[in-house]
Amino acid sequence: MRVLRTVAALRKELAPARRRGLRVALVPTMGALHDGHLSLISQAREDCDVVVVSLFVNPAQFNERSDLERYPRDESRDRELAAASGADVLFAPSAEEVYPAGFATSVDVLGVSERLEGESRGAEHFRGVATIVAKLLGMALPDVAYFGQKDAQQVVVIRRLVADLNLPVAIEALPTVREPDGLAMSSRNALLSEVERERARSLSAALEAATRLAAAGERSADALLASGREVLEGAGVELDYLALVDPDTLEPVELLERPALLAVAARVGQVRLIDNAILAPAVSQTSKGKAIQTCSA
Ligand code: AMP
Repeated sequence: MRVLRTVAALRKELAPARRRGLRVALVPTMGALHDGHLSLISQAREDCDVVVVSLFVNPAQFNERSDLERYPRDESRDRELAAASGADVLFAPSAEEVYPAGFATSVDVLGVSERLEGESRGAEHFRGVATIVAKLLGMALPDVAYFGQKDAQQVVVIRRLVADLNLPVAIEALPTVREPDGLAMSSRNALLSEVERERARSLSAALEAATRLAAAGERSADALLASGREVLEGAGVELDYLALVDPDTLEPVELLERPALLAVAARVGQVRLIDNAILAPAVSQTSKGKAIQTCSA
């Protein structure tokens, strides 16, 4: 695996592959790699001929300075893990390479950026995300870029960005990888104390409670959200939001009539965590019966 620091070196490395018509994959990360990241790299390895993993802790998307300063960094470990999962190139540019003097352009994806995380963290967060992703796509010119469903709103924003700017890249979103107790893997989990780690479990537990209730036939958003909130309330976390929204528009949903995104954000001590699940309406006994009758008719 090559480690490259400049856009010029990345372009030079990828040019022969592109001339031969090989498929190039990009997996954008901020490092501190865990099994969630590695699942994206492994899938990219399976699907494509050349796999580029980018490692850049993007200051522009951090709305809190302390979060940026605390963010875990370990490039030599990341290098080993990326290589072992099948990356061909680790692209790890400096902040000066990404944002040279005179840099003046940013990308705002209106609408979908303004909900959930946008409401809570401000417009800079997704402006920072959309700008860096547009830049990384321009730098690596991949055929496919891989993202995690863990950051569900990010996937919605990036799909919008790619469609609106006619970028010739396919976006793949892969399922959230979890710890055995359900906690979604996140680089920020490393910052949790033992007690906080225990409390953090309540995010996925809240999603599970609402999922169970939906499976039992509940369709009211109020009731589904209340079941999740109940889990979070006793857990010693500071809830930021728990919301049931349309998975494409991120508009609030009142009644679960088709699959909807249940998204949660909460602070556990100093660490802000997010998670989500897709809730699907239960197939009622009557409609099940009807479906069987229709099939056998
Ligand atoms: P990050 O380094 O946090 O910016 O994440 C880089 C990519 O990995 C993003 O597309 C994330 O959505 C994805 N990712 C992060 N955590 C997970 C996880 N637990 N499962 C799957 N993908 C993840």
